Amino acid sequence: MNFVPPIFISHGSPMLMLEPGRAGPAWQALARSLPRPRAILAVSAHWTSLSPAVSAAAAPPTIHDFHGFPEALYDLDYPAPGAPALGAEVTALLPGIHVDPRRGLDHGTWSPLRAMYPAADIPVIQLAVMPRADAAAHHRMGQSLQALARDGVLVLATGGLTHNLGEVAWDAADGIALPHVREFRDAFVDALLRRDLQRLLDWQRQMPHARRAHPTPEHLLPLFVALGAAGDDAQPSTAFSDYQLGALALDSFVFDSGTN
Ligand code: ZN
Repeated sequence: MNFVPPIFISHGSPMLMLEPGRAGPAWQALARSLPRPRAILAVSAHWTSLSPAVSAAAAPPTIHDFHGFPEALYDLDYPAPGAPALGAEVTALLPGIHVDPRRGLDHGTWSPLRAMYPAADIPVIQLAVMPRADAAAHHRMGQSLQALARDGVLVLATGGLTHNLGEVAWDAADGIALPHVREFRDAFVDALLRRDLQRLLDWQRQMPHARRAHPTPEHLLPLFVALGAAGDDAQPSTAFSDYQLGALALDSFVFDSGTN
């Protein structure tokens, strides 16, 4: 099958499912710009693990892993089939990885997928991130998965380019952000588009306000898996940019193959 470019999506607040704003249509357009994948491997910030883990449920339940939101959000679901066979492919590429036969889809995965593939007819499994491991370890994990991207699997990394919930302003208009959020975002995007791997993988030391933008790293770590999965000549490009709630940079990226 064909190469499917890995992508990173900043999934923002779960409220985007009820009020998609500019992000929903952008995610939809992004999906339409990609070859249709045979399956999706979602690397979600909302599944964290000490060691590598992949899900392999045949019919993954929708996990409503958010609290204090309107009832309507809890009525939504995403009944995509699972892909135990893809789980086996991942296991072959990452020997020793833990296989979770029951894990469902968390909102990091199904929130963007509801906009991207509303028919929920493409099989989905998830890969966990490891907050105790660094960006380089996630990049290597992605490199081990390059064969999947070359064989029709969409590696969907889903997190947030900035993510400090303590600084979220619920009344902030879209497009408005705290100065340090912009500064971190601009520096990171600059390094990403220049493929400055040394700076990217050392982001916690080299990017301005890194610790304030990410008090914990799990929302950025999926990006490095997608970057690795795209291949060493991958050319990142921006698919969407916005700010939400004053503290969340909503950038999404496509990592196209340099050989395509
Ligand atoms: Zn999140």
